[in-house]
Amino acid sequence: MSQNECDILIVGAGPVGSVAARVLAEAGLHSIILDKRNHLAGNCYDETDDYGVLIHKYGPHYFRTNNDDLIQFLSKFSEWVPANYIVKSQVADKLYPFPINIDTLESYFNKSFDEKTAKEFLEKLQINPGHEPRNSEEFVLSRVGQELYEKFYLGYTLKQWDKHPKDLAASVCGRIPVRFNRYDRYVDHKFQQLPKHGFTQLFKNIVTHPKIQIQLNTDYLEQRDIFKPKLTTLYTGPIDEYFQCKLGALPWRSLEFEFKNFKQEYVQPCVQINYASYDIPHTRTVEIKHATGQKLPSTTISYEYPKAKGEPYYPIPHPESAQLYEKYKEMADAEKDVIFAGRLAEYTYINTDQAIEKGFAVAEKILQKKAAK
Ligand code: FAD
Ligand code: UDP
Repeated sequence: MSQNECDILIVGAGPVGSVAARVLAEAGLHSIILDKRNHLAGNCYDETDDYGVLIHKYGPHYFRTNNDDLIQFLSKFSEWVPANYIVKSQVADKLYPFPINIDTLESYFNKSFDEKTAKEFLEKLQINPGHEPRNSEEFVLSRVGQELYEKFYLGYTLKQWDKHPKDLAASVCGRIPVRFNRYDRYVDHKFQQLPKHGFTQLFKNIVTHPKIQIQLNTDYLEQRDIFKPKLTTLYTGPIDEYFQCKLGALPWRSLEFEFKNFKQEYVQPCVQINYASYDIPHTRTVEIKHATGQKLPSTTISYEYPKAKGEPYYPIPHPESAQLYEKYKEMADAEKDVIFAGRLAEYTYINTDQAIEKGFAVAEKILQKKAAK
């Protein structure tokens, strides 16, 4: 086989591309993975900074899943460290447990609650609770009512998306549960751990296989004709870029990360603080050491500033972008021998475990295609 020939060409060394390549390699198929960045692991990439702190370069990645098969697969490539994803929200200079739980209600309203009285209390505040929410505003109002919506969600959401919660799908704020207990983790999944030596090492181990060839610093779109996959191309980059944004660019939301090191062991009480006020320019500060468990005398905090331009980190879930995506999807479906999968290629707001599940599904599809040949 010449240098650019392979069974499968994979564009993007993120979770989807890496996992698909591994499953296919174990079935005897040879992949070339390209990434335009100079590293593996996609947005899960982590690295050690100048102060020895393992930082998450593209925002905190709190790995969680309920899928036992996925844990079993990943555990072949990494050990794990239990991680506490505890988040607090700063509202008018005070920190509250977030997602909202009984402790948040007690602290905010200065009253005592148990599960029953917390439910009764919120039921009185809820607006239109019986109706299917049509957008993020309706979702939150139907769970916690006007005041908590304005204090904990409105400003944060406006900053994060530069859109009113009315103009965002219910699923955006729907990511955040409202709890009638005192559980204080950000997410509910049964497995909440981080790879012991980081995500980059995990994905490096996944793609280390004689049938996987990696080419970093390579933008597929600048040289798409030189690669000759025998079976298919798996494309995990932005779907609009694949088609030169012919129908117009899809709206993406970007972020700027500012990292600052402090000469003390910890600065924050927990891994993440959300800033609900619209007047504070950053949305959250992350002290990732709380989650990775690294023991060091200094610490690094990242500040997240949402932006319109830059790396396409988030698809923007609202009706107009969904319509435009559907048009690109029709073009993608008509593209011969190219599979589009992942957060960027399917314009879908998914977490890492869901991206890995897509990697498995896509590999399965390719193996079926091979078997049918
Ligand atoms: P990506 O990881 O985006 O990988 C795609 C790769 O394709 C990139 O490396 C890119 O450089 C490459 N590429 C694109 N175009 C080209 C091209 N033309 N040529 C070559 N290469 C190309 N998930 C969690 O589970 N927990 C979290 O806490 C969490 N936090 C997140 C925070 C932020 C700020 C963001 C942005 C995401 C977060 N995620 C989190 C989601 C997680 O990052 C994604 O679900 C996952 O990385 C998606 O995998 P992917 O393979 O689809 O895409
Ligand atoms: N959100 C909010 N207040 C918060 C945290 C989240 O209003 O303190 C809303 C906001 O719209 C955000 C969405 O809920 O974009 C999903 O939050 P999550 O923390 O899951 O976002 P991600 O980690 O993907 O950026």
